[in-house]
Amino acid sequence: MKYSVFITLLLIWKCSTENKNSTDLIITNVNIIDVVAGTIIENQDVRIRDSIIISISNNNNKSKIFKNKLDGKGKFLLPGLWDMHVHIQDQSYLKLFLDYGVLGVRDMGGCVSIPTNGCESLCPDILNKWKSKINKNKQIGPELYISGQILSGTGWPTSLRASSIEDVQHNFAIILNSKVDFIKVYEQIPADAYREISRLCKKNNIDFAGHVSESLLLSEISDLGQKSIEHIREQILFCFTKDTNELEAFLTNDSYTKEDRIYVKPWINDAEQAIHAFKKNNTWFVPTMSIQFSRQRYNDSMWITNSLRSQLPQSVQQSFDDYIIRMKNNPDKKSDLLWWSALEKLVKRLNDEGVGLLAGTDIACEGGIPGFSLHEELKLMVEQAGLTPIEALRTATINPAQYFGLLKNGQIKENFIADLILIEKNPLESISNTMTINTVIRNGVIYRK
Ligand SMILES: [Zn+2]
Repeated sequence: MKYSVFITLLLIWKCSTENKNSTDLIITNVNIIDVVAGTIIENQDVRIRDSIIISISNNNNKSKIFKNKLDGKGKFLLPGLWDMHVHIQDQSYLKLFLDYGVLGVRDMGGCVSIPTNGCESLCPDILNKWKSKINKNKQIGPELYISGQILSGTGWPTSLRASSIEDVQHNFAIILNSKVDFIKVYEQIPADAYREISRLCKKNNIDFAGHVSESLLLSEISDLGQKSIEHIREQILFCFTKDTNELEAFLTNDSYTKEDRIYVKPWINDAEQAIHAFKKNNTWFVPTMSIQFSRQRYNDSMWITNSLRSQLPQSVQQSFDDYIIRMKNNPDKKSDLLWWSALEKLVKRLNDEGVGLLAGTDIACEGGIPGFSLHEELKLMVEQAGLTPIEALRTATINPAQYFGLLKNGQIKENFIADLILIEKNPLESISNTMTINTVIRNGVIYRK
């Protein structure tokens, strides 16, 4: 046998055996968004086999051996997006995430057995079942990280109490037993109970994240290892509002007494230390701008009538209708406006100071829509807070990957997981272009709606 014939036969054999059990895809001539460098690498062929990007190059003619092809000419390829603050209440969410290119989510917990108002998650046994099906490719859905039942000092009925060291020791074990990826902490946790959570997390090598405990300073919370801080709350607002007139407006508007002012003074004085601690400890901030912005949108008919909500459970839809009525009659409109303008500045300040930000929406609480709202979050970061489009994109791609220590996610590179979105228009020119989704690729496979 001639050598060349032998090589050809070998190649045919190799291709046929590879094709038998593996999936492949080539995306040709596409413009890749490098989220780290903030640049576009033009006209590349991206080759994918078995959920992994096996090579990226231009001017290559090997495309014939790929069964599945996508023409990327004139289009842009983004890493799959992450929503780092969600509350899953229904299977319909999993589809909506994929429809909008959200290929990874961090579920911020709760424990209800049926859908309620959208602000709390289903119990971890249900979410774990879906997660395992997704991981075995038996169900469509994003990469899923869950926190299960919440440790709280508020006594909120579906949470687990964290009002003392004993509470924490007892309830921490219950949460660990439910096989979660991290622990979610809520508010009103006393300092000693909070320290116990920190100690147990270190001992069990599990992260904790969530709301802020009022009994400790932000710098202390960061030093104790809380991995991310969610939402804008009074303590965060007071701590990071630089402008003293603005700060005074909050205190006056919310009728702070002399005693209240003494209580919050340490928060205000903590700003520089908190920023220093956040950077040193890699504490992330999740501003959830879109849910805060919903308080301004009770007259925005486009938002209120968004037909995607019809895919959500009835109880979530009902709760949204009630919410709009509440917002229309909200007596605290002035205070909400102050909070909103403070949040814009705070996001910009923390970003400029080098604190890591993560995109999170709190869906489907107060009008949030799985998948869709993540794009609104990115838009708010750019158009309201003043981040650049690439800075906003990082909060939903490379930053979540770094947060979870995922070394093969969040970028488009060889040997990385092929969770990708092909979009029609350049998102670096306008962040709204993330919505021009052409094709979603989950684990190397084209997702069809
Ligand atoms: Zn939440």
